[in-house]
Amino acid sequence: MAEPLQQREIDELSADADRFIAELDEESYLHFAGHKETYDLSPIYERHERLTQLDTALGLGASVDGDRRRRELWRFACEGYLGNFVREEAERVAELEATLTTTVDDEEIPYRMLRPRLMNEDDRGVRERTEAARNELTEEHLNALELQAAQVVQRETQRLGAPSYAELYRNFGFGLDDLAEQCRRLLAETEGLWEETGDRFFRSRVGLGLGDVARWDVGRAWRGVAWDSAFPADRMLPALEGTLADLGIELRAQQNVELDLEERPSKDPRAFCSPIEVPGRVVLVLKPQGGPNDWRALFHEAGHTEHFAHTNASLSPEERRLGDNAVTEGWAMLLEYLTTDPVWLERRLDFPRPHEFAAEGAVQLLWVVRRYCAKLLYELEFHAAEDPTALRPRYVELLGDATKVKPAASDYLGDIDGGFYASAYLRAWAFEAQLRAYLRERFGNAWFSQREAGSLLRELWAEGQKPTADELLADVTGEKLELAAVGDRIREALAAV
Ligand SMILES: [Zn+2]
Repeated sequence: MAEPLQQREIDELSADADRFIAELDEESYLHFAGHKETYDLSPIYERHERLTQLDTALGLGASVDGDRRRRELWRFACEGYLGNFVREEAERVAELEATLTTTVDDEEIPYRMLRPRLMNEDDRGVRERTEAARNELTEEHLNALELQAAQVVQRETQRLGAPSYAELYRNFGFGLDDLAEQCRRLLAETEGLWEETGDRFFRSRVGLGLGDVARWDVGRAWRGVAWDSAFPADRMLPALEGTLADLGIELRAQQNVELDLEERPSKDPRAFCSPIEVPGRVVLVLKPQGGPNDWRALFHEAGHTEHFAHTNASLSPEERRLGDNAVTEGWAMLLEYLTTDPVWLERRLDFPRPHEFAAEGAVQLLWVVRRYCAKLLYELEFHAAEDPTALRPRYVELLGDATKVKPAASDYLGDIDGGFYASAYLRAWAFEAQLRAYLRERFGNAWFSQREAGSLLRELWAEGQKPTADELLADVTGEKLELAAVGDRIREALAAV
């Protein structure tokens, strides 16, 4: 049994964690925004060695004693300990993903371009061959490394004192079993709705019913090219600035928010937010491409940006940087789903058929939420199993049952979110659905144009991640966080067409 740490040691570790996260965030910002070719994590881990050592994690675990800040720091140290063990595998996987190429119809395509290709390719035969080439590379080069990492995590989790990874997260206070029960219920309650609306959605977007759609068609349907002209690249940032201004926020005047808009050859085309200092320096990186997905991604990341930029500086590092990630994901989704809100679309863009687009958005939400419900159920089984390879058929079964589209068995290791992050997304979807319903009731359907709604959001953002998503929601609405609210939100949007 480890001895509890002294308060002084805990304070030092907390301050060190704050620097560790800042350095990791800055390194990933520099690399993915295309300022820096290499991605050097090792020197950062070396500088903060103590935070990833076993005795630190065990000492913090022995010190928790019902204190939430200490429990968050303990979780951070455990994740650092496990992450440090699989850092080599993770770096090797990233390196392979960045360098592997394959040939489809005599054309050489880099591994990381295969997914975007599937979205942008109109010819179904080419899509099928592209998917097959991708699965072959995953199977041949990545699965062995991913399996090794999974086995190391399993072994080291036991040294952290928990019989399984799932049990470790239950000890961190994750309500995984109650959430899994809600997932099972939502899957059962929306099964018929998915079969009916999913079928209509795929028919309208790729000309195939749910029974005929294959996984290589899904990205193409998701892309929604027919809506591109309604979401032009040059109006993305003005629409964001206008939306925030209505809420009382002048984006360009925010001293602690940096906008990285420059063109750089190796800049990741997807928008992202790097909260390097919370709240002192939050970077929103984007390379506007236009199209519905790009707009959604920008508004999602802008939600993270405003949450972190408004977080009260006097909170502890644990309350600013750690805590319940369903909170920041919930804020991100609240802004993201404005781009599928018919009232917002009409106000911000001269949008053709906004209710039709909103209904399609609701079907996409149904797909992704059902998929994540199945992912959580799968991950709970995966992280409790003796032999991870035995779960390969379960992945296909669970994900296939939820989506009615058969997934690739070779993704059974890669399609796992570390730290049960899937549970944060699921709870964030519920948070968004319930908070949006409250905002509409209190401020009207155009709540996002009301200054008082903005004042309320700023007040809530200031709390950082000190409260959980459940506590924030209860505080504002008096409600309990419930996944079933997502089903109601989807049905409502579908009924409006
Ligand atoms: Zn996010």
